[in-house]
Order: sequence, then C-alpha cells, then structure tokens
Amino acid sequence: MIYQRSSALFREAKKYIPGGVNSPVRAFNAVGGDPIFVKEAKGAYLYDEDGNKIIDYIASWGPLILGHAYDPVINAVIEKAKKGTSFGMPTEIETELAKLAVSMVPNIDKIRFVNSGTEACMSAVRLARGFTAKDKIIKFSGCYHGHSDSFLIEAGSGAVTFGSPNSPGVTAGTAKDTLLANYNDLESVKTLVEANKREIAAIIVEPVAGNMGCIIPTEEFIKGLRELCTQEGILLIFDEVMTGFRLARGGAQEVLGVAADIVTFGKVIGGGLPVGAFAARNEIMDYLAPVGPVYQAGTLSGNPLAMSAGLAMLTALNAKPEIFRSLAEKTEYLHKGFEKALDKKGIPYQINRFGSMISVHFTDTPVVDFASAATGNNETFKRYFHGMLNKGVYLPPSAFESYFLNDALSYKDLDDTITALEEVAL
Ligand SMILES: *Cc1c(COP(=O)(O)O)cnc(C)c1O
Repeated sequence: MIYQRSSALFREAKKYIPGGVNSPVRAFNAVGGDPIFVKEAKGAYLYDEDGNKIIDYIASWGPLILGHAYDPVINAVIEKAKKGTSFGMPTEIETELAKLAVSMVPNIDKIRFVNSGTEACMSAVRLARGFTAKDKIIKFSGCYHGHSDSFLIEAGSGAVTFGSPNSPGVTAGTAKDTLLANYNDLESVKTLVEANKREIAAIIVEPVAGNMGCIIPTEEFIKGLRELCTQEGILLIFDEVMTGFRLARGGAQEVLGVAADIVTFGKVIGGGLPVGAFAARNEIMDYLAPVGPVYQAGTLSGNPLAMSAGLAMLTALNAKPEIFRSLAEKTEYLHKGFEKALDKKGIPYQINRFGSMISVHFTDTPVVDFASAATGNNETFKRYFHGMLNKGVYLPPSAFESYFLNDALSYKDLDDTITALEEVAL
C-alpha cells in the first residue's frame, strides 16, 4: 500500500504541532515510519488520505466498541447539535446517562462526568485523598492512568522509598506521594503499605491491564488488593477507562467479582466523544463539591453532544449484552489464528487475551507485569506492525498497547487479518 499523501500531511503537521500529533503514540516513534492520516471510517474500516481501506484494531483506542460511525451514536449527536452545543447549565440528558451507567455498573450510587480519562483518574485520586485525609497513593509500574502529574512517576531507587518523576515538569514534591508496586505482585504492595502505615489514601489499578499490552490479573492479586484495602482503610480505585463497558455491562468489577471503592471511566462511555467519569457509593461521592468539600469542576463537563453519544452507546450495549460474549469469541478466534500463523514462523511469542482485549509480545517469557512486557523484541514488533499495515491491517503502533476488537469486525475480516500475518516476514 502507498501512504504518500499521509507522509506529506505529516510533514506539514510537524511545522505547526509538536511532532505533528496531539498525542505522542500517534507519531509512530516506537515503530518508525510516518503515521497514516485518516480521512473517514465506517464499521471495522478506516479509509486514509491515500485511499487505502484498512481493517482497524484500535477503534480510537477503545471507545468505538460497536465500530466506527455507529448510526445510533451519529444520529444522536446530529440531532443534539441542532439544539445547541453547550450551555454550562444542567440538562436532563446528564441524569439519563448517569442513571443508565449507575444501573449497569455494580457498587456505584453516583457518577460525575468529566472530559477525559485523565481528568477522571486525577479527580478520583483527589476525592480519595480528601475522603481519607491521607496523601499517598500506590500505583503499578506499566499501568497508565492518564497524564496528570501524580501518575507520571517511575520507581525510585529503593523499592520502599517514594517514586521519582518520569517526565520533566513533574515536581519531586508531587512524586514523593506516589508509590510504585509491581503488577500481579501482592507482596510488593504489602511491603509499601507496611512501610507507609496509615498514610495511604488509595491504590489505583487497571483491573485488567491494557497499557503494557494486555495483562491479566491473577485472582490472588486482584482479590488480595481488595482484602488489603479493606483491612488498612485504603480506597481501591479501579481504573476502568479501558475495561468499563468493554468487558461486560458492569466492566471488570462484574467479570472479576471484585468490588472497587471508586471506579473511573472514559473511552466507551463517550461513544467516541470526549467523556470521562468517576463513580462510587454515596458516602464517597457526596464528599465532592457542591455537597462536600473536595473541589472538582468543568466548563464542558456533561456537554450535551458528548452525553448524547454516550447515552446512545450505553443504551445499545445495555440492550444487547450478548455483544460482550460475541466480541470475546471473535477475539478468541483471532488468538487461535495468530497462534497458528506464528507457530509456523518459529519465533518466540506470547499472546495475552481477556474479553475483547488482546496483545502479542515477541518474547518467550510469560508477560505478567511491566518487566516481563519489556522483554519483548521490538525489532520483531516493528516488522510485524509495518508488515501488517502494508497488508491493510492497523494494529497499535507500540508493543505496550492492547488491541481493541469492535463488533463491526466480521469473521471474514478476522480471516483476512490471520492470512496477512501468515504472509508477513518476521
Ligand atoms: C486511555 C486511558 C486513560 C486516559 O484517558 P484519556 O481519555 O486518554 O485521558 C486512563 N486510564 C486508562 C486505563 C486508559 O486506558
């Protein structure tokens, strides 16, 4: 396939936008080459500026679980837009979406809408700190919770000492309140909790990780986190920005059978428009302004266009919960096809899959945390990514990302994808 016009557009974009993109992963830094510029998309396919038709496995990084330009969402947004795009005043549709979300997700009474997953996680942590009157949080290496300062932290020198900034601009003062543990390693969490007795407000975790490829939590780990939090008076925050309304109606809480204290959302809940949200039981949510003392606000929060997209999306998922099973079946089909294709190539690989999330790591080490994910061979990954793109299959342009299947993908698309992999030289 030819990507000439995309390359020209990228050169032009780089003159006016840092790196030519508004979010770094889009620039293809991890895989090299120029990104493709999208013209339009429908169902399972992207159509780029060079006229290529491409099977899409990222679906805008998750939101488009029913495929691109899903008619009920598009029509809802068009109709809403005719009546005004923003008021900064209450509207009925905010309550409709809140009521539906609360009815679908376990263990939540109230929900607050924001504009992104980043905002949702940032606000959830502030609420947890205010509610518990404690400052420190624990996060896991390789989990992503958006780009707010408290999360741009890497492990410090000693395992029980505080974290250090992993981006210039994050202050040492902020970093000292974020402690880093290892995913699927309950002992690493217990060590931090012991060393910081009665100082920890919250543990935030991706209940199924998707930001170091797809990583499945062990039962011991995820249930152990719940027990530890209950024992120690720590709030457990499930970051369900990726898993919420994707793994099941009730997200990872439902599938894993583990209750969180605060849950954050993004991606699917906005149906492709900018929406994030955080939710909890009344006692916690009523600690938020204007009822309680913890401040949080947003000029465009609960925006009518965004709410109408979210409402159309959740209404469709709520009416057809069998979608989650059929998506998981498609993902399993892809998994088996990829195994067959990769086995023939005789190179080491791991495939992790949970529901409609899946990823391939080119390593012989089982991928259970950030360190094992980092053992993947990135040169092989680059050949894989570009080989697939040349055959018209768009995968995430980084080995540290999960693929998101969408309901518009047909078994023919999956077969075409598997055939493409068989033909790619790794
Ligand atoms: C995407 C993502 C975020 C950040 O959401 P944005 O809308 O990009 O700010 C937070 N947490 C998880 C788990 C995510 O996958």
